Amino acid sequence: MSAARGRAVAVIGAGLTGPLLALLLARRGFAVTLLERRADPRTAPAEGGRSINLALSARGIGPLERAGVMPQIAPLLLPMRGRMVHELSGRPALQSYGKRPEEVIYAVGRAALNRLLVSAAERAGATLCFGQRCTGLDPGSHRARCVDERSGRQFELDDETVIAADGAGSPMRASLVQAGVCEERIEPLGHDYKEMTLPADRPGAHALDPGALHIWPRGGFMLIALPNPDGTFTVTLFLRRSGERSFASLADDAALRRFFAEQFPDLAVHHEALLAGFRRNPQGQLATVHARGWHLGGRALLLGDAAHAIVPFHGQGMNAGFEDCAALDALLERGSDWAALFAQFERLRRPNTEAIAQMALENFLEMRDRVRDPAFQHRCRLAFELERRFPNRFIPRYSMVMFHPEISYLEALRRGATQAEILEQLDRAPAPGGGIDCSLAEALVCERLPELAGRDPDLRTG
Ligand SMILES: Cc1cc2nc3c(=O)[nH]c(=O)nc-3n(C[C@H](O)[C@H](O)[C@H](O)COP(=O)(O)OP(=O)(O)OC[C@H]3O[C@@H](n4cnc5c(N)ncnc54)[C@H](O)[C@@H]3O)c2cc1C
Repeated sequence: MSAARGRAVAVIGAGLTGPLLALLLARRGFAVTLLERRADPRTAPAEGGRSINLALSARGIGPLERAGVMPQIAPLLLPMRGRMVHELSGRPALQSYGKRPEEVIYAVGRAALNRLLVSAAERAGATLCFGQRCTGLDPGSHRARCVDERSGRQFELDDETVIAADGAGSPMRASLVQAGVCEERIEPLGHDYKEMTLPADRPGAHALDPGALHIWPRGGFMLIALPNPDGTFTVTLFLRRSGERSFASLADDAALRRFFAEQFPDLAVHHEALLAGFRRNPQGQLATVHARGWHLGGRALLLGDAAHAIVPFHGQGMNAGFEDCAALDALLERGSDWAALFAQFERLRRPNTEAIAQMALENFLEMRDRVRDPAFQHRCRLAFELERRFPNRFIPRYSMVMFHPEISYLEALRRGATQAEILEQLDRAPAPGGGIDCSLAEALVCERLPELAGRDPDLRTG
């Protein structure tokens, strides 16, 4: 704590990760300035079009606990115990996310969470500056350059150290690329998204089960819905940008109506509300940002989406950004030589954020296509059965990512690949009367999956 006292740090971006980091740094005694280009979210109307609500899971909850804000956040959370799959025909069916009652994920409103984190950062002592846009690093002085959005006044920050949590389109990342320290590769998904609101039956009364994340998987595209506390659901359509069945093909109203009537007949009574939202709301784009070289010595560091934006299908972008904050905070316990610390931070985090980037893309296929496949459902049941028998060795990959922050993303990816092979082998060689061959299962699991021992969730390399 004493090494930090009074040392100035600027955090750029008061989205989701910036305020949490500002809060953690302020608690360590740093003199933190949090700069944000938007107006203060606590007084300005929320910006539309960008995931009105999100899924928070154990990986994000740990860092929020570390920062001491979970008691205020807990009342905002709606637990979702599984995915409710809506086939074109038939009744919706729930696929549980886990097998224990605590294995749930939580829907949370982005704007409410953002306001709460900003206030908590301010209470911890961070100085908040809204309406201030960072344009990148000055190539000579390596200080951050900013512009006041109202007056147009340009200025440089005095702070020696700048941490940029300025999102997927990070101007700071662009500066590091220009300075030759960062290499980036942006991988567009090709599918865009649009948000709509499913109205409440009456105030506070949800039209669908609020204890689940709803999916309408349609092969190649999908609709999902997450509950809000006011009884509404935020509904998101993920669809190709162009081509035969795409946003481009829904440009005229008749085509749009036909599409909803054919694909989502169980929502027929809500079509008018959904269509109004579809016409009103912007079409968002999705991409994975692969960046290498997250820092310029001890001057500047990228964190959160600025360093590793991913597609949203594992519900992990924010959770991974919160993990970044906890990891940096844990490293600060060991000293505050920024250059060494930033290098170590990237060494720790990048293999993990690359792993979740891959799993997020894979989960898109799972959500939109595979959840309907009986073979996939059978494998899920088998995986839960193996978890029941070997809880210290076999944990389904989705559960490792969502419920086990002590297992790094990279380890979840690696163990998940081994587990997939084990499941395939067991499927190919069932017991004589059908079902699982227990001795083969035990041999494979014990031989190929080392026991999971306790470890520090904030400092894993994978
Ligand atoms: C449709 C969708 C659904 C999602 N669902 C989930 C989910 O369920 N679970 C999950 O964990 N994640 C989810 N995510 C991902 C999540 O939104 C991001 O990972 C998260 O917002 C990243 O936080 P961040 O603070 O790094 O960036 P952001 O939240 O983007 O914040 C960046 C901040 O920086 C500010 N800023 C930008 N440029 C400048 C500048 N030049 N100067 C000053 N300020 C600047 C912005 O105004 C913003 O406030 C979803 C994303 C999308 C698009």
